Amino acid sequence: MSKSADIAEKYPGPRTPSPLSQSIRFNFEEKLGKYPHKVEAALRGDLESALSVVYLDVNTDICNHNCTFCDGFHRPLSRAVISTERILELIDEMEELGVLAVVLAGDRGEPLMHPGIARVLDRFARSPIQLGMYTNGSILPPRLVKAVGSMAWIRVSADAGTAQTHRKMHAYTHQRDDFATLQKTLRALTDTVPDVGVSFILDPLNVHEIRQAADILLSAGAHFIEYKPKYLPNYTVDTEFLADHAEIIEKSITVAQQNWGPRVVLNNQISGLLDGQEEPRLERDPRPCLTSALRMVVSSHGCYSCTPYRGESERRFGDVLTQSLRTILRGQRRVELVGRPCTRRCAYDAQNDFLIDLATTGRTLPVSLSSARPQDAFI
Ligand code: SF4
Repeated sequence: MSKSADIAEKYPGPRTPSPLSQSIRFNFEEKLGKYPHKVEAALRGDLESALSVVYLDVNTDICNHNCTFCDGFHRPLSRAVISTERILELIDEMEELGVLAVVLAGDRGEPLMHPGIARVLDRFARSPIQLGMYTNGSILPPRLVKAVGSMAWIRVSADAGTAQTHRKMHAYTHQRDDFATLQKTLRALTDTVPDVGVSFILDPLNVHEIRQAADILLSAGAHFIEYKPKYLPNYTVDTEFLADHAEIIEKSITVAQQNWGPRVVLNNQISGLLDGQEEPRLERDPRPCLTSALRMVVSSHGCYSCTPYRGESERRFGDVLTQSLRTILRGQRRVELVGRPCTRRCAYDAQNDFLIDLATTGRTLPVSLSSARPQDAFI
């Protein structure tokens, strides 16, 4: 039996739409409407003025965990950091370009392990640029709590409802109790960071802890928990596992939603599965990507159009270790990549369709009059 037929049999649809897919939770039209100058720059092809969000991998292959699901393991990576001095220069350059927001992360790396992270956070604290961060939540030194507590959002990779499963999913030594530390981190940040989320990658090791994770992590102060599929090489998801476990996933998520309401969030592919789609779809018809005019990934091994293409040489452009950000944005390669069609159905799929609609119909972007919240800058 094919995988899709297998899913359809075990999980027949159609069903009542799941209440909270990512595209519903984040009202991108309203957010874009708060930054019309950025959208206008993207539509007229002014790539320097359009740049709004930089996903900054401060280090590569430097982490205190070895998560079994980390997409970095699918790619050859060499240990590296972007030096503190270069990051501080980059902040100056991003301010000059009018960048709205930076996502601090690592490529198979934990950003809080960067040797200069205290200086970097201190510099961002004096910048109009909004900050978000992906972290495993296991190393937040007391001296950094205040700086991290002023971020617009934090995403903590949790992936478990017990210490034992957390240790297996994140593959670290038995001497540590990082699941307890993670909960402590959530408690420390929940009052000051406006948007604290935990992620839960569905896997055979943790599928029986879906409800428990929601209970424990939301009680510890996370504002929401998001369930996601495991990504495999070439932008595919683990459909075989999802097919085999569709029933337990649906039942557990339904109970979690009954208990916690909108604080239980589903990524688009999981939402689609629960809505009766035969198979999570990550491919679609080719179209250009205007979202990639607004965003870029900066890492020690080059710059990329967006996180789904991170590490893929055909979407690589420029190198912040040897070039200024402005030179990179002016380069022919950047122009060519923004215009190149994409067939991936990513988290920005609906936003991108909206931007293409604006570009092709000449429709005017509805300007949002309500004042921007810190997390709105991540367009
Ligand atoms: S549509 Fe394609 S190019 Fe654009 S952000 Fe998504 S994956 Fe990247």
